Amino acid sequence: MLSSKRILVTGGAGFLGSHLCDRLLEQGHEVLCVDNFYTGTRYNVHHLISHPRFELMRHDVCFPLYVEVDEIYNLACPASPVHYQFDPVQTTKTAVHGAINMLGLAKRVKAKVLQASTSEVYGDPSEHPQPETYWGNVNPIGPRACYDEGKRCAETLFFDYHRQHKVRIKVARIFNTYGPRMHPNDGRVVSNFIVQALKNEDITLYGDGAQTRSFCYVDDLVDGLMRLMATGDDVTGPINIGNPVEFTIRELAETVIDLTGSASQLVLKPLPADDPRQRQPDITLATRDLGWRPRIQLRDGLARTIAYFERLLMSSSRRRAAE
Ligand code: NAD
Ligand code: UDP
Repeated sequence: MLSSKRILVTGGAGFLGSHLCDRLLEQGHEVLCVDNFYTGTRYNVHHLISHPRFELMRHDVCFPLYVEVDEIYNLACPASPVHYQFDPVQTTKTAVHGAINMLGLAKRVKAKVLQASTSEVYGDPSEHPQPETYWGNVNPIGPRACYDEGKRCAETLFFDYHRQHKVRIKVARIFNTYGPRMHPNDGRVVSNFIVQALKNEDITLYGDGAQTRSFCYVDDLVDGLMRLMATGDDVTGPINIGNPVEFTIRELAETVIDLTGSASQLVLKPLPADDPRQRQPDITLATRDLGWRPRIQLRDGLARTIAYFERLLMSSSRRRAAE
């Protein structure tokens, strides 16, 4: 480790944020984890609470924050379609006001700031795979717009603060990422399928399951974010971070059944509005500028995630039995 920095992680009690806090602490940094626990939970970071370089603060990024830090990772925002559509106005506020507040903070304390943007800025893409130069195909008034347009506006703000105020920015476009600490009721496809398979319940395939996604394991993703933060000021992104190996959702369901040995059946449910038909990152830029590529194959990452959910379900059934 070269030097210890003070690093703010917003959304640090969420799925990705908690893994990022772990890795930053391992590297010897001081970590300030800020979260309003909207979708994240204290349990994700409870192993860090007594760590001398870790601090947990309840705060909503829609309001200004006055702290002194060297780097900011802005991850605060619900990420699952079920959760970000639950209170769409709040989702847009979090994405936009959160970006303004974190950029304002970065400007005042001269910190580097990294935005967790998303492949959703490409919407239902007509270019495949998606390079960063593709401008996207987003329905601005549909049910996903609160998230997609919120994140697009956040990118606009990042680049305007960079051009206007010389703020040092990094914009990562994150593609579907999965792993331990996803919430069991998160609603995203990997956690849904694993929990359903482990309970031998029906696996809910939306549409015909022919739509595709490319799934990145959380450790690879966090490595990509940290490499992006470590780049010189000339590297701003946007830069795609995701695993380019593409699967249909039906293939994902079949792999989960195979790995869990589940007796679950596939059942078809209506496809949600504006559900993107295909998604695959072009990671040429990440490979060139960050020397990054994902290392963990889907089956290996799924096996680790299944082991996590097995432990979680086991301990909650033990708790219920003791009550
Ligand atoms: P998550 O829901 O587990 O984590 C989000 C965290 O932000 C939660 O802890 C939540 O409580 C917190 N939060 C929400 N609103 C807040 C607010 N107003 N103030 C403070 N905290 C708030 O989701 P995740 O998968 O860990 O996603 C983290 C970030 O990465 C999000 O910004 C998301 O848009 C982005 N992202 C994730 C993925 C993915 O596949 N996991 C893909 C693309 C982008
Ligand atoms: N999906 C599904 N069954 C589920 C949850 C999701 O078939 O129980 C599908 C969903 O329609 C989408 C894909 O899986 O096509 C990925 O959904 P997710 O919510 O994980 O993320 P998205 O990439 O759509 O934001």
